[in-house]
Amino acid sequence: MSGILYIISAPSGSGKSTLVNELRRIVPHLEFSISYTTRNKRGSERDGMEYYFISRPEFEKMIGEDEFLEHAEVFGNYYGTAKRFLREAEARGNDLLLDIDVQGAAQVKSRMKNAVGILVLPPSRQVLEKRLRNRSISEGSVSDEVIERRLHGARKEIENYPQYDYILVNDRLEDSVDLLESIVLSERVKRSGKVLTPEEIRMIGTAEQCLQTTENTSSKLKEILASFTPATTG
Ligand code: 5GP
Repeated sequence: MSGILYIISAPSGSGKSTLVNELRRIVPHLEFSISYTTRNKRGSERDGMEYYFISRPEFEKMIGEDEFLEHAEVFGNYYGTAKRFLREAEARGNDLLLDIDVQGAAQVKSRMKNAVGILVLPPSRQVLEKRLRNRSISEGSVSDEVIERRLHGARKEIENYPQYDYILVNDRLEDSVDLLESIVLSERVKRSGKVLTPEEIRMIGTAEQCLQTTENTSSKLKEILASFTPATTG
């Protein structure tokens, strides 16, 4: 194991949490970095499980002591990745997965060129809107204003696609889990320097379908971005 750093980002409602949970279940030697945040706990969240919940002064103290690999303000709250997670995962011979926003991803990529950036996207604005609505119905409150704000935020995040190595369009969950697993495992085998088996070569081929630079991906990206552009009338 080589201490690979994977960054995964997605607009809210793209199904990232489910994908990340599945990935953690099936891929060995992959640790998950628990971020620090100043936002309030939600529902069943517990300190030290989903996040470390701390106050703004505590967060600012950590910034002052240079404890963060990256940090950002998202929806009015601080979020940050502690450097110690990276050191600890490396010492155990494991890879590390960061679930962070586009601002954090940019900071990590500029410091660590070898990090693998993965952007998860919904197939279209319409699908994202439906998922956001269903989620807010199940949470008991539908606010058109919140949904509009998230959709607007999504467009902005998607526009940051050039900083990611892989683009994963989350259409069918099972397919997306398989693709994400291929991306993670293929980066491992490519960096191991060993002779590749036919199965590993096939897996790299599967992962490469999601490379940001391929024709296939750029045409999908164009379609997705177009679905976020309001139709002009008149
Ligand atoms: P939520 O509050 O819904 O759990 O997360 C809101 C956003 O913050 C998500 O896009 C998530 O990826 C991002 N986020 C979570 N932890 C971090 C972090 O440590 N750093 C950065 N930059 N973003 C984070």
